[in-house]
Amino acid sequence: MATKKRTPRPAPAPEPEPSKCGPCNGTGVVARTVHVGRKRRTVGQQAGICLACFGTGEATD
Ligand SMILES: [Zn+2]
Repeated sequence: MATKKRTPRPAPAPEPEPSKCGPCNGTGVVARTVHVGRKRRTVGQQAGICLACFGTGEATD
């Protein structure tokens, strides 16, 4: 069986660059302020994984 005319495939589109995650600005890490005690005194900052992108730094839909 001869195959009929095939529709030409369009060239594959270049992969779009992943958009940066907002909260971590594409780093995948966000600084968290650490509070202690009832007065919630700030004792410093700690690097934490970005929960918006789970550390990938790429924005998810
Ligand atoms: Zn993020």
